[in-house]
Amino acid sequence: MNLIKIADSFPTETEATNYFEYVRWGNKPICCHCGSKNASKRYVDFRYFCNECRRKFSVTSDTYLHHTRLSLRVWLMCFAIISDAKKGISALQLHRHLGITPKTAWKMYHQVREIMSDGFISLNGIVEMDETYVGGKPRKFQSAKYTGAMDYNEYLEDKLEDLTDRFTFDNNAIKKNGLTEDAPRGRGTSKVPVVGMVQRNGDVIAEVMKKTNWKNFKAMVQHYVDMDESVLITDEFKAYSKFDTIIEHIKIDHSKMYSYKGLNTNSIESFWAIVKRGIIGQYHSVSEKYLPNYVDEFCFKYNNRKFDDMFETLVFNSMLPSDTIIKGMTTNSKKIRDGKKRARDVVSSQKMPSKAA
Ligand SMILES: [Zn+2]
Repeated sequence: MNLIKIADSFPTETEATNYFEYVRWGNKPICCHCGSKNASKRYVDFRYFCNECRRKFSVTSDTYLHHTRLSLRVWLMCFAIISDAKKGISALQLHRHLGITPKTAWKMYHQVREIMSDGFISLNGIVEMDETYVGGKPRKFQSAKYTGAMDYNEYLEDKLEDLTDRFTFDNNAIKKNGLTEDAPRGRGTSKVPVVGMVQRNGDVIAEVMKKTNWKNFKAMVQHYVDMDESVLITDEFKAYSKFDTIIEHIKIDHSKMYSYKGLNTNSIESFWAIVKRGIIGQYHSVSEKYLPNYVDEFCFKYNNRKFDDMFETLVFNSMLPSDTIIKGMTTNSKKIRDGKKRARDVVSSQKMPSKAA
């Protein structure tokens, strides 16, 4: 989906609204307050009046785009740009492309990432599991003065505390001179663990995890993996060792070899490579708070890599009720298939429904 096509297909807000309405409701608007299909004609502000509960609603009511102040045309452009950017795009680029403020672009992008996180993944067959750590490396300071386990960050913090009444270490002054910038965020602190599982030739799921231990690993596997029909491949990390008791499990001891006749964790490793390249290349540094959103984005893109309907998926997902992540609904469920089909049909035929009602 390119921008020219969007501009042609949706020349005004009316066409864009018609499209969203068709994707969400099909041919008849449904009141989001009472579920009635008995609604009066659309107002100029694109809202309907429900004849049953006598309240107004619009196509974005109770969806991910609830209360959006941006026009739906801008949202369509945004979806097109993001789904086209295979390696990700920064909020600043989005701001330049869409002519919105950097802050709005940043918020919008995070909203899109939330939209991406919807849906339910289930894995079976050969499933590889591994964890990676995002952020800087914890550095040990190698000096005669600081032996022992003192963290490099702690060392610098101590120095700062000792010296700030004598010197002013102005970060901005250094930046202004164009000399150097702060070390990437996360450096010197512990890295943040991200745990992932990928089905061979299938979907990936990854989550930021507070603690990488057996309890959390077990919960994640039980949530996403078909325990009876799958074999789990991990490395020799101790927290994985108990999987033998609950699922068919193969450990690859990386100190001995990385792969043996197809037994390896190469798929999940290559997913980590995408994540790391993306975070370093495009987003430079990601704060811990928003890391889960970025991880969702990488998962979404990976899982949609073989389809060319990422744009339609985003449009459809954006029309889902925002407060209910549809648990247990797989990507193949009928509701999703139908909605995506409506989204695709309209775009491919270039035929807009003249009116949803
Ligand atoms: Zn109603």
